[in-house]
Amino acid sequence: MDHSQILEACGLPHGTDGPGGLAVTTPVDGSVIARLSQHSPAQAQEAIDRAAAAFEIWRDVPAPRRGALVRLIGKELRAEKENLARLVSLECGKIVQEGRGEVQEMIDICDFALGLSRQLYGLTIASERPGHAMRETWHPMGVCAIITAFNFPVAPWCWNAALALVCGDPIIAKPSEKAPLCALAVQRICERALERFGDAPDGLVQTLVGGAELGAALAASPRVAIVSATGSVPMGRKVAGAAAERMGRCILELGGNNAMIIAPSADLELAVRAAVFSAVGTAGQRCTSLRRLIVHEDVADGVITRLRHAYDGLRIGDPLAEETLVGPLIDSDAGTAMSAALERAAAQGGTVHGGAPVLGDRFPGATYRQPALVEMPEQSDVVHAETFAPILYVMRYRTLDEAIALQNAVPQGLSSCIFSTDIRECERFLSASGSDCGIANVNIGPSGAEIGGAFGGEKETGGGRESGSDAWKGYMRRQTATVNWSRELPLAQGIRFDL
Ligand code: NAD
Repeated sequence: MDHSQILEACGLPHGTDGPGGLAVTTPVDGSVIARLSQHSPAQAQEAIDRAAAAFEIWRDVPAPRRGALVRLIGKELRAEKENLARLVSLECGKIVQEGRGEVQEMIDICDFALGLSRQLYGLTIASERPGHAMRETWHPMGVCAIITAFNFPVAPWCWNAALALVCGDPIIAKPSEKAPLCALAVQRICERALERFGDAPDGLVQTLVGGAELGAALAASPRVAIVSATGSVPMGRKVAGAAAERMGRCILELGGNNAMIIAPSADLELAVRAAVFSAVGTAGQRCTSLRRLIVHEDVADGVITRLRHAYDGLRIGDPLAEETLVGPLIDSDAGTAMSAALERAAAQGGTVHGGAPVLGDRFPGATYRQPALVEMPEQSDVVHAETFAPILYVMRYRTLDEAIALQNAVPQGLSSCIFSTDIRECERFLSASGSDCGIANVNIGPSGAEIGGAFGGEKETGGGRESGSDAWKGYMRRQTATVNWSRELPLAQGIRFDL
């Protein structure tokens, strides 16, 4: 399939002569594959009006009926899986295997949300007063804006959308300006599901195409009850500030700086395989990409030798080719950031292996890089920052306390893992004084989470939780109701107020 066939299969406009002001390029070869019109801030306000009107209706539709819509979205996604996966690969540059995984994640969360639509239950709570009942109820919250990053253009949309829709909240998507085509394809899929559903209100599922200014308009609007934002820490700070001004609710999924500790007892074969996938998968452009390897000094030399051997065999190339393991970076800015980080690492005492530009003759307009391994004498400044590229810093440790301290010393707190066969070490890593991240794994790499668990992280990662477990509570408002069915009016805490 060539690039225009991929767009056509998803029902999308293509060609470079469209009317719009947003040129969409593919990182595969750097060419412009479509031009789209962008929504204006005034159109964003209209979208909010429509979503707010939809909320008045959707909140009263029984949740299991709302689940039926999500079931239909899941059904359409199953039918479109291959087409959408190829589009993800074309627009974002991740290998098509990972594109398929991302769409599968959407299907999985639709199944999860469908079941959830019959389980949005609260508690009954013992009242201290006779003849009183106390309970907690969960109600729809309002319009949910979903701002997403370029590197996962569809799965995080669906983590939010599937839950928000069953919870009774209309959604407005604001995809990355680097990946609007995936969002438009998903909007089309939803429209087919909405048509089959029949009586959903107008404005229930919308997508806005444009840049930061549209995201900022959504974050600032008091009529947007929930702003779920996935992206960089600087973006999260702005969104959080705008939402805080009006006391709006945020769900923030921001940058990570994820580590793996390899203990002396680790199964090194597993550890190295996990490290390579986590560090070079999506060309190091996952929020959960492995960026820091903290290896016990007794096994460090062996681990580095194995890693260098594995890196030498990586097949870098067109992400749409089935055999490719590492695709391109999103654009030349990402390549510049990678080179700058490698230069800083070298200046801070690092020994750099790899990282060179490749495939310049075949794809002169694109940015392909050899993944880099950097042996660092210590966890210096450059290691504390998230560089969104395939750079793996390797550091050595002596004691587990030292390794955990290094792991927790960065400002981000998304994902982490330990490879060890010593149960004491593993449990220590998972304990209150172990990893400080939202995700902590044992004998599994830091990337590639399942939808059943809550996804998100602490510190600069923003504290949000999406996807499984009880993340649905972020999309509803909790109401505590006390009902007096007695003939008296006792006050709580035994207070007397005799008239
Ligand atoms: P980005 O911050 O540049 O953009 C993300 C989105 O925010 C885009 O849609 C953009 O238009 C929008 N945006 C930018 N400024 C805004 C503002 N002031 N107000 C409202 N919206 C604004 O991020 P990116 O380069 O697309 O993605 C890479 C980053 O995303 C990395 O830091 C990565 O770790 C992070 N990320 C985090 C997760 C997670 O779940 N924690 C998942 C994917 C990516």
